[in-house]
Amino acid sequence: MANIIDGKAISQAIKDEVKAKVADLNGKGIYPCLAVILVGNDPASAVYVGNKKKACEYTGIKSVSYELPEETTQEELLSLIDKLNKDDSVNGILCQLPLPGHIVEDAIIRAISPLKDVDGFHPETVGKMVIGEKGFLPCTPAGVIELLKRSGVDINGKECVVVGRSNIVGKPMSILLLRENGTVTTCHSRTKNLKEVCKRADILVVAIGKPKFIDDEYVKEGATVIDVGIHRGADNKLCGDVDYDKVAPVAGLITPVPGGVGPMTIAMLLKNCAESVTG
Ligand code: NDP
Repeated sequence: MANIIDGKAISQAIKDEVKAKVADLNGKGIYPCLAVILVGNDPASAVYVGNKKKACEYTGIKSVSYELPEETTQEELLSLIDKLNKDDSVNGILCQLPLPGHIVEDAIIRAISPLKDVDGFHPETVGKMVIGEKGFLPCTPAGVIELLKRSGVDINGKECVVVGRSNIVGKPMSILLLRENGTVTTCHSRTKNLKEVCKRADILVVAIGKPKFIDDEYVKEGATVIDVGIHRGADNKLCGDVDYDKVAPVAGLITPVPGGVGPMTIAMLLKNCAESVTG
């Protein structure tokens, strides 16, 4: 039976490190501040934003929030971002996605200054990540790397398979594993023989967006399995993209859902925020 990678405990350790760093900065008269923008009434987004504000409070990062109505125009949102880009008291800007359909997300992502891009989605930030320059790392994939490192998983030279190639998770995940000297294969909906490819993995990261898609037939005995997916079932219970009950007996290490990758995303956002001050 696999050992569980405890994302709750690891994310708590990171939040405590950020808290200590913020206290140190405060002692020098520096007060990191995150601006959080929420447009519209999506209930899930409201919960995510609430959790981010709560986590800021815990670590001592100041947060200012802008809760804008659904009918906010793209111009109005761009004008707020421009104001925040120019505001020296704001270190990080986060615009909660998804945005209402009449706003072009890409235009908003590109409008946020790369210096304050704590989500790590701006093309300049992505470019820096790809060529290995210092910069913000996208929170979920960076959180997966922290989970692996802090669980004692050596990525160097390992066969890593990432299932999913979204700009937010799969693609940056593959790049970050490559930066850690993994031998990386990225799979997607056109991949042939997915089971065989996944079964090669020493480290299997799954971000497909399909509940319990990956079962024991995709997993090599003893592999480390990281489940990025998150779904709420008809029974109101949360589950991931991995069928935990089938995979846990085969894997060496596994992340549960909830309590695996999920809590890491916010912890890495806070880490980015604290680092945005010191560079
Ligand atoms: P997307 O829907 O944007 O991407 C899904 C990817 O999976 C695509 O690249 C797609 O391939 C691939 N895929 C879909 N079906 C298959 C299949 N049958 N075989 C192989 N590959 C397939 O999802 P995201 O990357 O945004 O999110 C993935 C999951 O992670 C979701 O469950 C989401 O809720 C969760 N998530 C969790 C976060 C957290 O903090 N824990 C943060 C972000 C996301 P193709 O490109 O060919 O279409």
